[in-house]
Amino acid sequence: MHNHIYLDANATSPVLPAAVAASAAAMATCFGNPSSSHAAGLRARTLLEQTRACARRVLGARRGKLMFTSGATEGIQTAVLSALVAVRERRAAGQPCGDLLLYGATEHKAVPESLAHWNRVLGAGLELRALPVDASGRHRLDVLAELAPRAAFVATMAANNETGVVSDLEGIAAVLRGAGGQALWMVDCVQALGKLPLALDDSAIDYAPFSGHKLYAPKGVGMLYVREGAPYTPLMCGGGQEAGLRSGTENMSGIAALGAVLAALEQGDTFRTHAQLAAYRERLVQALRVAFPGIEFNVPLEHALPTTINFSVPPLSSKDLLDLFDAAGVCVSAGSACSAAKAAPSYVLEAMGLPLGRSGAAVRLSFGPLADDAFVDAACERILRCGRALAADMLVPSSLCGDGTTGLLQLAAEGRCGWLLFDSPTRECVAIDPPAALAARLASLLPGHGYRLRAVLGTGADPDGVAAARHALGQAAPWPEQDEMVGLPDGRTVRAIRLGGRWLARVAHPNGASTGYLYGEVRDGVLAAAQLRYAFVGAGMPLVGLAGPRTLACGAADGAVLPCLFEESPSVAAGCADLDLVAAERLLSEYPDALLIDVRERAEHLAGGVPLRSRKALNVPLSRLAEHLPHWLQDPALPGTAQPLLFFCRSGNRSARAAATLRRLGYAHAWHLSGGVALAG
Ligand code: PLP
Repeated sequence: MHNHIYLDANATSPVLPAAVAASAAAMATCFGNPSSSHAAGLRARTLLEQTRACARRVLGARRGKLMFTSGATEGIQTAVLSALVAVRERRAAGQPCGDLLLYGATEHKAVPESLAHWNRVLGAGLELRALPVDASGRHRLDVLAELAPRAAFVATMAANNETGVVSDLEGIAAVLRGAGGQALWMVDCVQALGKLPLALDDSAIDYAPFSGHKLYAPKGVGMLYVREGAPYTPLMCGGGQEAGLRSGTENMSGIAALGAVLAALEQGDTFRTHAQLAAYRERLVQALRVAFPGIEFNVPLEHALPTTINFSVPPLSSKDLLDLFDAAGVCVSAGSACSAAKAAPSYVLEAMGLPLGRSGAAVRLSFGPLADDAFVDAACERILRCGRALAADMLVPSSLCGDGTTGLLQLAAEGRCGWLLFDSPTRECVAIDPPAALAARLASLLPGHGYRLRAVLGTGADPDGVAAARHALGQAAPWPEQDEMVGLPDGRTVRAIRLGGRWLARVAHPNGASTGYLYGEVRDGVLAAAQLRYAFVGAGMPLVGLAGPRTLACGAADGAVLPCLFEESPSVAAGCADLDLVAAERLLSEYPDALLIDVRERAEHLAGGVPLRSRKALNVPLSRLAEHLPHWLQDPALPGTAQPLLFFCRSGNRSARAAATLRRLGYAHAWHLSGGVALAG
């Protein structure tokens, strides 16, 4: 990771060197149990209490409880449990306590999940209600004013982890005060520490959880502030540590590290000021605008932390952008780290009313207050590199096979699959079964590269999707008007259009169920089987007599991911193509002619090359594999004698599919780097 620019500080941060040192010292020399009464214990207790005292000064919390926890999720549980137990007791005593558990619609999932959990476990029977936010991500104070008289508990974060939106805590406090103040109020301060001024004593906040790993302390340590007089129930009981508030022997190495961060905050000589951070953000925003001219910022910057930027670049998806940034060695994320594994659009942006196209395409870029000029320079340079890579022509036909004029791009989205067949000299193309989800993408990609779309063709496998794509691409006709007749080897005569030096002929299934498209050269008025390159067909289309041994069948809209030859080679279909880094390097040194192939998209490849053993890699994006297959398959070399192909990509998924395809087609010497360059780097 040495060469990476880490711009995902809202997910977690690196550890401050002083915190590493403090943690190591606590383990090496101050390892005593703070509950012990001997000298070693007393030294540990002194460290614990000094850290607490420092935290109190930094948070402006001279009064109230301040305990160390394992992180914010624990702090949130403890606050919710304390509040719900108090509500039950008040209700049992006949006191007014409200019947609503209100939480901001953009809260971290730890909040609504904990509320639902403890409400159920305690049988409290309260109603959970999300407090809506407006288009700028701030809580709707008018709705809060309406609901506050019924609220037993209110949770409103100080700053949002996905968007950086800073809440109007004073406004919320005023509304709660106006409603009589019966509700207990929790403010998740995780993203605020070190970035916003905090004065907890002067506020009406009852509970404030904090997390160490969002501000240069290690994971597994946090704090919970509880206002003086606010109800409290321990989540964990046992040895009575933390004055009985939170049992369990203290995480002294974590607390020592957190102490170093708090000391740095107090001294004020380590972290950047708000104004400096805002200036850094401005520079990053400018670089993003230059790199991605169509960028849309999802949050008004004046309402956000100066360290968070949330944006979309239509028509690119979050995944396209994350892959591109990753290739350039920049770590960013699509939203919260907890939901990174789920492909769902961001619920935070949805709550702000952003359309699906933007909430599903968002990228979060966040940095910490330790950033400096050199870091921001390097980040801007990488962002600009991403922009240059994206602007490069993606529709360049392979020079490996044929005459380097025709290209074939696989269009895969949402389980659907189609094809874009393009001719570079004439700048003409046709789309076959394009998934509707990619229509907007094609609409901007094709004119951007000077291509004219001649037709959107359908095989019948996904008529609705093709109709939607035709509509979005402004192509009403199912087949172009200027066509001619060509012969087929079986004696039929069918309609065909010229694309560059070859022809695309339309053939109907004998029972009329589907349509196929055959692409190849016409000799003496006939599209000869030996010259047929691609057959775009739905399931069941008979091709006997039409296709030759080198024809590739490109499956249409049926989820088929890659084309296949008509005769698969069972002899090498099985076999594991996975190579770890050591085995991959051995293969490259044993076979000097082995070809290293980067199957990431062209923009990713241009954004950051990842040579193995200083070997230059050829770029064949997985979406263009079909175009290159004829080259590798033209010589049906015996297994073991062919040129070894070593595929790689970012994580190993795409390269595994490339190697599996080659093997399925009989190419035994196809391998891939398992784990991808993410592990190799
Ligand atoms: N609250 C917010 C706003 C967060 O960003 C996070 C972490 O992602 C949490 C709570 C949970 O914190 P922890 O990882 O310390 O449990």
